[in-house]
Amino acid sequence: METKKKILIVEDEKNIAMTMQYNLKKEGYDAEIAGDGGLGLTRALSGEFDLILLDIMLPVMDGFTVCEHVRQHSQVPIIFVTAREDEKDKIFGLDTGADDYVTKPFSYKELMSRIRANIRRSSHETVQKKPAASAEPVTIGALTIDSERYLVTKNGEPIELSKKDYDFLAFLAANLGKAFSREELLEEVWGYEGGFYGDIRNVDVTVCRLREKIEDDTSKPAYLMTKRGVGYYLRRP
Ligand code: CA
Repeated sequence: METKKKILIVEDEKNIAMTMQYNLKKEGYDAEIAGDGGLGLTRALSGEFDLILLDIMLPVMDGFTVCEHVRQHSQVPIIFVTAREDEKDKIFGLDTGADDYVTKPFSYKELMSRIRANIRRSSHETVQKKPAASAEPVTIGALTIDSERYLVTKNGEPIELSKKDYDFLAFLAANLGKAFSREELLEEVWGYEGGFYGDIRNVDVTVCRLREKIEDDTSKPAYLMTKRGVGYYLRRP
């Protein structure tokens, strides 16, 4: 029998937190509430959870800071629950390591769908990591992508990447030289079917952030290339 997936709700507005908990339990999840960022971080680091729903404006410690701290220790999927449209730029722009976001007010149908997709991706990756463990690290110019250790280095120096950034780079590296459209990348890396929940801007934001990390000169990319009218591809410099 499959054990219940456990979700941590970090949310200070009691009504929202309780409604989320109620809906999650109705869907068959175990759900625990942490009412501030400090408690949220402590609970998130317990390793008991399969996914974390994280509010941004929180007492004690804001959601961005919680996310950054969690990412230093754990790859648990994190979905930001944002109150404002403009916060979503920050979620990826600040490189917090978030996997996804929903904007309040959201429908529970959408939230559940995101939760399922993120948990599925994360458990899928755990399974996929086994055969990849025997694989040799891939070297592309000064970059090395080590799928066993989930690590990217440039000239031997580790590059800090969120799980999505790593997935994005690893996907393009596995298909070196082949260009993919934004929609294709969204589906391959973020895994949303039909693109209904997808935001192709996530792809552009991810490319910008990756270029800052892997390129010597972001105005003249040597690795992560734009193919005009198509999308993006990775190449050997
Ligand atoms: Ca709040």
